[in-house]
Amino acid sequence: MFTSVLVANRGEIACRVFRTARRMGIRTIAVYSEADARALHVREADEAVLIGPAPARESYLDADKVLAAARATGAEAIHPGYGFMSENADFAEAVMAAGIVWIGAPPAAIRAMGLKDAAKKLMVEAGVPVTPGYMGADQSPERLKAEADAIGYPVLIKAVAGGGGKGMRRVDAGEAFLDALGSCRREAASSFGDDRVLIEKYILSPRHIEVQVFGDAHGEVVHLFERDCSLQRRHQKVIEEAPAPGMDDATRAAVTAAAVKAAKAVNYVGAGTIEFIADGTEGLRADRIWFMEMNTRLQVEHPVTEAITGVDLVEWQFRAAAGEPVPLRQDELSINGWAMEARLYAEDPANGFLPSIGKLDHFVLPDGVRIDTGVEQGGEVSQFYDPMIAKLIVHAETREAAAEGLAEACGAVEVWPVRTNAGFLVRCLEHPRFVVGDVDTGFIGAEEGGLVATHPSGLVRIAALTLTAEDQHLGSRPWASDRETPWEADANNPASGFRLNAPRRASYRAAVGGEHVSGIVLSRQSGDFSWDVQIEDQGFVSRSKPRRIEVEGVGTVGYRGSWRDTACLVFDRGWAWQVTEPRFNSSMSAAASDGSLRAPMPGKIVATPAKAGDVVAKGQPVIVLEAMKMEHALNAPFDGMVGEVAFAVGDQVAADAVLAMVLKQESA
Ligand code: ADP
Ligand code: ADP
Ligand code: MG
Repeated sequence: MFTSVLVANRGEIACRVFRTARRMGIRTIAVYSEADARALHVREADEAVLIGPAPARESYLDADKVLAAARATGAEAIHPGYGFMSENADFAEAVMAAGIVWIGAPPAAIRAMGLKDAAKKLMVEAGVPVTPGYMGADQSPERLKAEADAIGYPVLIKAVAGGGGKGMRRVDAGEAFLDALGSCRREAASSFGDDRVLIEKYILSPRHIEVQVFGDAHGEVVHLFERDCSLQRRHQKVIEEAPAPGMDDATRAAVTAAAVKAAKAVNYVGAGTIEFIADGTEGLRADRIWFMEMNTRLQVEHPVTEAITGVDLVEWQFRAAAGEPVPLRQDELSINGWAMEARLYAEDPANGFLPSIGKLDHFVLPDGVRIDTGVEQGGEVSQFYDPMIAKLIVHAETREAAAEGLAEACGAVEVWPVRTNAGFLVRCLEHPRFVVGDVDTGFIGAEEGGLVATHPSGLVRIAALTLTAEDQHLGSRPWASDRETPWEADANNPASGFRLNAPRRASYRAAVGGEHVSGIVLSRQSGDFSWDVQIEDQGFVSRSKPRRIEVEGVGTVGYRGSWRDTACLVFDRGWAWQVTEPRFNSSMSAAASDGSLRAPMPGKIVATPAKAGDVVAKGQPVIVLEAMKMEHALNAPFDGMVGEVAFAVGDQVAADAVLAMVLKQESA
């Protein structure tokens, strides 16, 4: 076994690989870009090497710099993590040529499975059922359109070099095909440097079922059962679990056998995943499940497999790379309980799931569950990399218990000012359809409205008033108003209220999440921080404890913010709300309706579907920005005319730049 490993990656996957390396007594070496100088993976490693500026192309994706770092530190092995260079066969070869152990798939297997069209052809030859579609060399729009027409809509256009859910467009009707093709090709060219596509029949009620396989250098391949990753948003996995709900023995036997066959067809060594798409209209059935692609690397969601099998897949990767046989035989592997993983993304569900970048001033994750993360409080989410900041993994005896445990864990996430999808995860996990395992990849799209909190809940409003009253009670918060009782006399005397026995009553105003809340709050007893809160004609009893507020019969929220802060935060089941002085917030939505389309983050203009003078309908795309590897269309906020498009395709823009103006159309 080698005695040192360099991880050619960042974030949570680098930290994950280091964890196993440390346990095995292997020296850990990190590489990092200038943007990651203070990142967790750098601090956790025994040694770290700066390899270049923030953009991945100039650091993490620069093979020469990574290899130079390996030589300089005497690294005996390189683990690529996932993404970045994990599926780069040239890099794998360069690593081996340098006499360094490559902890990844054999270059030939990476190449064979690297392009989705070639991989599908290979699988057809190996007798593995594949998704029907067109995977030809003729890439003319006319031919592609004709093939799509022949397959019948809906179809899916996929970048042959695609990955991570990017470079994919569902098309429901022939008229929309060419536009979708253009946007798919743009994304494919910029993300993968290859704009070729294939067309697939869009499978109805699609469920994403994948099989973890593991091979060694002696020709043995085992599987570690399946995962269900059907809960996706725009083809990106959000919640994954193992095993798959509704999987019967016959279907499991068929799909795992197909996976092993696929891995053997490419002489696979190490950890790999065979992804299948299943038509879930009548539950999972052995004859309705097709090969989609193989990921020749460790997968983001590998922890759920580790949980149900008790295997440390990174340890197995180390052993396979060192030439050892697969540690367990197929008949020694079994499924124990149920595991679920949620991906915590730095994104703002209430704002179209735009990635959210910035400082993690407050970053608190729950205890008692497995957390794989690469950031910590005080760290930063930068514009340069993936917005996934943590994974929460729960293992329990039953699916029900795993889902409940994971919902509770996600509900305890507290992050600010970066926004996350934690509250959205809770709502997914508690949704009646998810609870019974009735989820296909369209679930989020169909239910999205109900999965996103756009307004603070009643509980949050009560908590906001409680906090406002409490601050006022202690004489430190300036904005409570309309005092009705002799408070004023004590206002500058912190805690004075608690010495008085007479109940005190006052009306308060606050803004929470940009919305006003007002009501009457009465301190119940001296000293115990409990309050009668009256909002409109409803009364509540709320009690504040360190870091949380309980409202009798309603629920509990977390909060942060000392009495002397100018604002404080309320955390409700994964959602974060800021409590502020009312007048600061009243103009919050005014900016959104003046017709200016602002860049939500720094990025590059990739399309300008509307020109100055065009008449546009509300919701129609005006200008398209690419940032954090995704395209974001900025849409007309109302019916109107495009007044100005201030940038052209290829321009780099700063956050908040006004990209275009839409003028309200005079009604004739
Ligand atoms: P797929 O969607 O192909 O099954 P996964 O969901 O397992 O893939 O995610 C792999 C993707 O993770 C990569 O294609 C890449 O976009 C992204 N990624 C790359 N590097 C990192 C990283 N350090 N942390 C998190 N995600 C990453
Ligand atoms: P990537 O390399 O980006 O992971 P995949 O080919 O694995 O691309 O597809 C990603 C996701 O897109 C799948 O998990 C599934 O949700 C959806 N998908 C892919 N192919 C189809 C299809 N033919 N019909 C319906 N959904 C599909
Ligand atoms: Mg995939």
